[in-house]
Amino acid sequence: MTTRPAGDPGFPDIPRHVGPLGDMPADEFRAAGHALVDWIAEYLQHAERYPVLAQVAPGEIARSLPTQAPEEGEAFGDILADVERVIVPGLTHWNSPTFFAYFSICASGPGVLADFLSSALNQQAMLWRTSPAATELEAVTLGWLRQLMGLPAAFEGVIYDTASISTLHALAAARERALRGVRRTGLASREDARGLRVYCSEQAHSSVDKAVILLGLGHDAVVKVPTDDAFRMDPVALAAAIADDRAAGHRPLAVVATTGTTSTTSVDPVPAIADVCEREDLWLHVDAAYGGAAAIVPDMAWVLEGADRADSLVVNPHKWMLTPFDLSVLFCKDMELLREAFSLVPEYLTTSEAPEVRNLMDTGVQLGRRFRSLKLWFILRYFGADGMRTRIAEHLRLAQVLAGWIDAEPGFERLAPVPMSVVCFRACPRTLHDQPEAIDALNERLLLALNTGGQIFLSHTKLRGAYALRLAIGHARTTEAHLAMAWQLIRETAARV
Ligand SMILES: *Cc1c(COP(=O)(O)O)cnc(C)c1O
Repeated sequence: MTTRPAGDPGFPDIPRHVGPLGDMPADEFRAAGHALVDWIAEYLQHAERYPVLAQVAPGEIARSLPTQAPEEGEAFGDILADVERVIVPGLTHWNSPTFFAYFSICASGPGVLADFLSSALNQQAMLWRTSPAATELEAVTLGWLRQLMGLPAAFEGVIYDTASISTLHALAAARERALRGVRRTGLASREDARGLRVYCSEQAHSSVDKAVILLGLGHDAVVKVPTDDAFRMDPVALAAAIADDRAAGHRPLAVVATTGTTSTTSVDPVPAIADVCEREDLWLHVDAAYGGAAAIVPDMAWVLEGADRADSLVVNPHKWMLTPFDLSVLFCKDMELLREAFSLVPEYLTTSEAPEVRNLMDTGVQLGRRFRSLKLWFILRYFGADGMRTRIAEHLRLAQVLAGWIDAEPGFERLAPVPMSVVCFRACPRTLHDQPEAIDALNERLLLALNTGGQIFLSHTKLRGAYALRLAIGHARTTEAHLAMAWQLIRETAARV
């Protein structure tokens, strides 16, 4: 069975020349590489030929693969053929222009090629000397990104894999500042570690909870602050929660403000939250994992207003900056705190240049690091600041277009404002207007029907108890025509279910 859509080039025969020892010979590598690049170019151009959401049953992919590794090596062409036959049907196509679920992310051409090069170079940038280029390019590229986002030079950047890990490190720095020497003493024996509290809105990402759990504060330490009618943290409620906690003998530690929440992309009022943090001497971490990208568009600079007063901020270029997964950036004003928390140099990793250089292993838990900055550098150079802004501005425009269509359509309603490129809405036929459970059930059926159809992929959330469909726009290849097709399909399917 071939799942190759008509027009795909397929894979040519690639003769196998490898000997009993050694790596794949250069001529074979060249032939295999060209075949693969041809396939990827076709794939990226025509990703919409595939069902966006993988249409396989649990276990189906695993069952179609051998349970043991082959004894004899196989031809590269046979491996590639199995990619098409077995792997591709089990892919959910994040690179499809009609992938509108979660956050619509994009592995742009220059990013894919840079990642390929990064694998070939196989840099492991734990120490400056193990990759001076990866170490220094990371600092330079993050300086570019910081300026594009309008953040002050006081922020130093470091790359991790995901925002979850960036936020974990930010809160580890906050813990280090509040509890000096905690890396040596641990938490158990310390009076001053009792009742620590971390505040975020009830719309904040679950990565905040996970970081608090992992830092040993206990999940009870997370205080979820209520939001206003636009899903933004209420800073008065924040101040009240802090006062209540202090009165009860707890110890406020940090506040996480979100600019671009995961459900609705709402933007917490960072200036008012920064006022509270300064007054209360709390660490302020801004979770701009998604929304930070919007700030590079001049009209959208407001989303990071007040972020210059934060202690740390996370932004994920892998979310809305055309960067293949994964690449998350933590900006921190006092990176020394992270080094105090995590730097540990065994004898075999000491180097003579240590005082003059930055060793990336010192800024976190992991020792080794991939050469991730290479892809961000390629992308910023290839598209240019202007090209990045134009693309993000287009996603913002498309979201407003969709919001307009929804608002004008009887039988549909929008469930949240649209500050960025995510639209939350639902079908709500007039006949069901006083039956909230029936409306939820209808929208669940609608989502299931849309996603099993394979033409588009949406996800959902719950807003004030109501089941909401969520359509996110963020892929470089998504056009208004794709959006119009999706909207027509949503209306037709709603009428049917
Ligand atoms: C997606 C998201 C995260 C987590 O992202 P990962 O990089 O997958 O860990 C955190 N915060 C917000 C606001 C997000 O949207």
